Order: sequence, then structure tokens, then C-alpha cells
Amino acid sequence: MIKKMTLTALASSVFLFSPTLFADSELKQSVYEDNGRLIELFEHFHANPEIGFMEFESAKIIANELKQLGFEVHEGIARTGVAAVLKNGEGPTVMFRADMDALPVKEETNLPYKSTNPTKDRFGNPIYAMHACGHDAHMTWLLGMAKQLAEAKEKWSGTVVLIAQPAEELIMGATAMAKDGLFNKVPVPDILIAGHVHPLLPEGSVSISDGRRMAGTDRLTYSFKVSVVMVQHLMSPKIPL
Ligand SMILES: [Zn+2]
Repeated sequence: MIKKMTLTALASSVFLFSPTLFADSELKQSVYEDNGRLIELFEHFHANPEIGFMEFESAKIIANELKQLGFEVHEGIARTGVAAVLKNGEGPTVMFRADMDALPVKEETNLPYKSTNPTKDRFGNPIYAMHACGHDAHMTWLLGMAKQLAEAKEKWSGTVVLIAQPAEELIMGATAMAKDGLFNKVPVPDILIAGHVHPLLPEGSVSISDGRRMAGTDRLTYSFKVSVVMVQHLMSPKIPL
């Protein structure tokens, strides 16, 4: 609980929003009015999933939307990564990350916007994919947030950096972007927020805490020896060794 309060206070202070902004009916109305665009984007992302490091089309859509909103956009970081900066006067730098990649599974839903076509993996092999981890929603809320931030600049100050990251499922995309010069292009943030959908939380609610959350992934390499000992079963002399 203390952790949750700490980050809540930090997040609200770094954004320097007016304390009433989140309860602002103007903001709610503005988000509501953007619903049509956001649903269209979500359904398009869902119907066109792309595997890690192959998110070329998703990245193109995100980059174009962010350019139209006035962000300074950097593309092709670690193949498909996008980083976008919006400077708005004095204040801290807040980075928000959304991941773009889908899982290599075949969709078997009856959704009208289900994915049907095989896509390609990063070696060019055909593969079925599905946004089964919610990254279609992540890309959508990144673009929704971008629009609200760009259109309500009088209500906050500081710098926002939005990241569309490749290959989260491969546990490689974030490191790949950092190694490919991300921080030569955008400022190092005072705080980084990486959101993820969660099926156990009630619809319309948000849960935050600092530190690692959900699948904080890592790699472990180990080796082991197996000794096989064959012992003739004394009671079954016919079993050949
Ligand atoms: Zn995920």
C-alpha cells in the first residue's frame, strides 16, 4: 500500500497536472469523443498482429499518429521501435512504454475483427499470430494518451517520451532499443511507466505500484548431468539388457 501511494504521488507530481485533471469532466468528455478512433485502431491492431521485431506496420501507424499530434518521432530503433518526444516547458521527463508484439498462436475466437492471416516471423517463415497478451490495447491507449496530452498542454508541463517497444514477448525489445541508441535520441526519464492489461482486475480500474510487476522476466542458464544406471530386474531374467 505504501508503495502504491509513493508512485501515485510521484506520478502526479512529475506530470505536474492540475490536481483536478483526472476528475475533470472535460477530460472524460474528450476521451469519450476519441472512442471511435481508438476502437478503430484497436480492432485494426488486433486483426493484424505482428511477431516480435516484425512490428513494421504497427510501428508505422503509431509513428504517423504521433507525428500528426506534433511529437518529435524517431523510428526504426531496434528494427521497429518508435520513440516520440513532446516538450512542454519546465518540468520532469516522464516516459511511458507500450509494447507492440503479438504471440505466435492461432486465434480461435469468433470476434468480427479476429486475425486470420499468417504473418511472418523474423526469419521470414509464415506463422500464425494473435494479440493474446493485450498489446493491441497497449498501443491503443498509448495513442489515446498522446492525443489528450497534445491537446491539453495548458494543463501540464514537462517532457513526455512515448515508447512503442518491439519484442516484449521475446524479452529482448527493451534492451535492444537501449543498445540501439534510444537515449541518444530521447532524454533519460525521471520516471518510466510501463502499463499492461490484467484479466483479474475489474473493468475500468487501474492498479499501480513501483518496481517490477507481473512477469518480471529474467534468464537462467543451467546444465545438469544425468547418470543412467541400468540394473537387471532380478525377478525378470528375460528382460534383455
Ligand atoms: Zn504482454
